[in-house]
Amino acid sequence: MILYGAPVKEKIKGELIEKVKKLEREPVLAIVQIGGREDSNIYIKQKQKFADEIGAKVLVNKFEENISQEDLEEKIKKLNEDKNINGIIVQLPLPKHLDSEKIINLISVKKDADGLSENLPSKNFQTIPATARGVMALLDFYEISVVGRKVAVIGRSKLAGGPIAKVMKERGGNVTVCHRSTENMAQVCREADILISAAGKAGLVTKEFVKAGQVVVDVGINRVDGKIVGDVASAEVEPIVASITPVPGGIGPLTVACLFQNLLDLCG
Ligand code: NAD
Repeated sequence: MILYGAPVKEKIKGELIEKVKKLEREPVLAIVQIGGREDSNIYIKQKQKFADEIGAKVLVNKFEENISQEDLEEKIKKLNEDKNINGIIVQLPLPKHLDSEKIINLISVKKDADGLSENLPSKNFQTIPATARGVMALLDFYEISVVGRKVAVIGRSKLAGGPIAKVMKERGGNVTVCHRSTENMAQVCREADILISAAGKAGLVTKEFVKAGQVVVDVGINRVDGKIVGDVASAEVEPIVASITPVPGGIGPLTVACLFQNLLDLCG
């Protein structure tokens, strides 16, 4: 079975449209963009489009590539104080001269729509990072239970792999995290019931990594010869496993939808 993201996204969109209607003011997401990376421009356009569809507003705060750390910190502080803004995200990656972690941790926890800030005065306000929420939404939609099942997650970044593993653990999965130094990775992954790859390496997950009956979630987005592909060598993996997400068209669209779920949660 192919686990398409589109119907899940439509379901979330419908729920968000209803939530927005009940608010007194339209929810506002501030996106902070430094420079003009082409991939960031594409992701920001997708977010603007989704916002339009649900009746939310996106304000892109675009700054020069060479903005100083101090100036950017000031901009974030101003956005934190701006009562018209419900959520703030910083479009990553930032140019190398900037300390991304420090910038992200400056975002008020009450406005942290990406859920990436580690500056958490209250656990009650913790937002689930959108990619992890997207994986969860997809598994829920297709009624794939995590409880008591072996889950292998490839990748342990703060943006993708780390939060995905955390959410899977919280859902009662027996989670093993794999990364660049993991030995016998293919075997570890083959033993899992659910395999989630967020490595960012095209063709990493080959037929040696999978077994019959397995659920494979491909979070990777890689550009190969001008085409978007995931981490999974899908031509050889698809015939073996029970279900698999496509790339594009799997988790990608859900990450955008879940960012706006986070925004609506922040609206109270
Ligand atoms: P990252 O480079 O910060 O982290 C990659 C992680 O994968 C690291 O922990 C690294 O140890 C591990 N890894 C990399 N190569 C590996 C290998 N050969 N074997 C084992 N482990 C390996 O990247 P990221 O920001 O976490 O993104 C990962 C991928 O997920 C990228 O392709 C990115 O585009 C994609 N992504 C997709 C979405 C989405 O919406 N679908 C959202 C975020 C990230």
